[in-house]
Amino acid sequence: SFTLAIVGRPNVGKSTLFNRLVGKRLALVDDQPGVTRDLREGAARLGDLKFTIIDTAGLEMATDESLQGRMRMLTERAVEMADACLFLIDARAGVLPADEIFADILRKKNAQVILAANKAEGKAGEAGLMEAYSLGLGEPLGLSAEHGEGMADLAYVLRPMIDLAETEHEDYTPEVDVDLTDTDEEHDEDEEVEYIPPTPSKPLQIAVVGRPNAGKSTLINKIIGEERLLTGPEAGITRDAISVMTEWSGTPMRIFDTAGMRKKAKIQDKLEKLSVSDGLRAVKFAEVVVVLLDVDIPFEQQDLRIADLAEREGRAVVLAVNKWDLEGDKQDKLKQLKEQFGRLLPQLRGAPLITVSALTGRGLERLHDAILEAHQVWNRRVSTSALNRWLVGMLEQHPPPAPQGKRIKLRYMTQVKARPPGFVVMASHPDLLPASYSRYLVNGLREDFDMPGTPIRLFMRSQ
Ligand code: GDP
Repeated sequence: SFTLAIVGRPNVGKSTLFNRLVGKRLALVDDQPGVTRDLREGAARLGDLKFTIIDTAGLEMATDESLQGRMRMLTERAVEMADACLFLIDARAGVLPADEIFADILRKKNAQVILAANKAEGKAGEAGLMEAYSLGLGEPLGLSAEHGEGMADLAYVLRPMIDLAETEHEDYTPEVDVDLTDTDEEHDEDEEVEYIPPTPSKPLQIAVVGRPNAGKSTLINKIIGEERLLTGPEAGITRDAISVMTEWSGTPMRIFDTAGMRKKAKIQDKLEKLSVSDGLRAVKFAEVVVVLLDVDIPFEQQDLRIADLAEREGRAVVLAVNKWDLEGDKQDKLKQLKEQFGRLLPQLRGAPLITVSALTGRGLERLHDAILEAHQVWNRRVSTSALNRWLVGMLEQHPPPAPQGKRIKLRYMTQVKARPPGFVVMASHPDLLPASYSRYLVNGLREDFDMPGTPIRLFMRSQ
C-alpha cells in the first residue's frame, strides 16, 4: 500500500503524529521482517484514507555521538521505502540548521515531500510557518499533532498522491513476470487496450506552471470561471492554495495551482525562489503539466528548468504560449517559437505547442484537447506481440553495433508500465549498447506507435 515516512529532527513531534495516525493499530509495528528496530511501521488512518506509515523516531532514544550519522542513514532508508515523506519542522522553533540537513537529504533523494510545521496550534506557530517556505520544499502545512489540527489539510494533500500511486502500482508488471518464450500471438488480445477517460472520481490531474506573470492565475480562473465548479475547496484550504476540481469541456479535472502561495508569502525577494519550488511540487502531483510561456519572454531559463523537470519526473507535457492576443506578426512568431522549442527542449520532441490567450479565452479549446490527447498517449499500452514484431524490423534496418567484437543481441521486448510508457529490452550485453541505439529505439517507438510528446522509458536488461 501507499507508504508515508515521517522524517525530521528529534523533538519536532514525529511520534505524536505517528500515534495519532496509527492510534490503537500499533500491534502491527515492531519485529516486521526487514524493518530495523529503529524504524516503526504502522497502519495509518486519516478520514477514509488508509496507508502505511514509517516513523524514524526510534532513534531519539539513542544517546551515542554517532546519532547524527545514524539519523541520516535511517532517514535515507525510510525515504527509499516510502512513496512520499512528511517532513516535520517545529513551527515554534522555526527553521534550524538541523532542518536544513534533512531538507537536503530529501532533495538529494528526489523524494516527494509534504512539508509541515508542527506545534502550530492557535497562532503560536505563524512565524515558523512562514519561515518554512525558505526550505524551498513548497507550501508548508500548519499542523498540531497533539491537538489534531490541520489533519483535514493533510488528508487533502495526501489523497491525490495515494490515488496516483495506486494507479501506478496497478500498472506495473514486475520484471519476473516476463516470460521469454511468450512472444507470439497470445498477447494480441491486449493490443487494443482501451483508454479510460477521466471521471469525477479519477479526474485528470494537471498542473499549470511557468514564470511569475506568465498568466497562470488568469488561465485557471478562465477555465474554472466559465465552467461549473464541481466541488469546492475542502475545509480550511483556500481555493488557490492547492488544487481545484472542475469540469472543463466535459472532462473532470483537478488543477494544481500554486499561484496562491506566492500571494501568501508576501515577502517580495522570496518570490523567485518560491515560484520554482511550488512549480516543482505541482509537477509531482500532476499527470499532465502545462508549461505556460509568456509570448514576450518565452523559453526563459526558469521555463526550461521546469519543463525539463516535468519530463524527468515522467509527466506528459503541453506547452502553451500565452498572451497571443498581444502578438502582431503571429505567423512569424509561431515559426520562431517552434525553432526555439526544438533547439531548447529537444527532450520534449513531439509535445504540443498551443497558442492561447488566457485573457480572452481564445485557444483554450485547443489547449483542452491537447491536454486530453497527451494524457491518452501517456497512458498508452502496446501489446508484446506488436512490440516484438516491431523490434525485428528495427534490428534488420539497423543492426546494433559490435563494440569490442561482441555482438549485442536484443532478444525480446515488453512494456512493463504506462504513465509514462516504460519498456524492457532483454539484451546480451546491455551495458555495451550505445546511448545512440537506445535513442534510435525510443524515437522509433514514438513514431511507429504514435506516442508524441510523452516521456518514454527504455530499460535494458541482461538475460
Ligand atoms: P501568474 O503570475 O502566472 O499567475 O500571472 P497572472 O495570471 O497574475 O497574470 C499576469 C498579468 O498578465 C496580469 O496583468 C494579466 O492580466 C496578464 N495576462 C494574463 N494572461 C493574459 C493574456 O492572455 N493576454 C494579455 N494581454 N494579458 C494577460
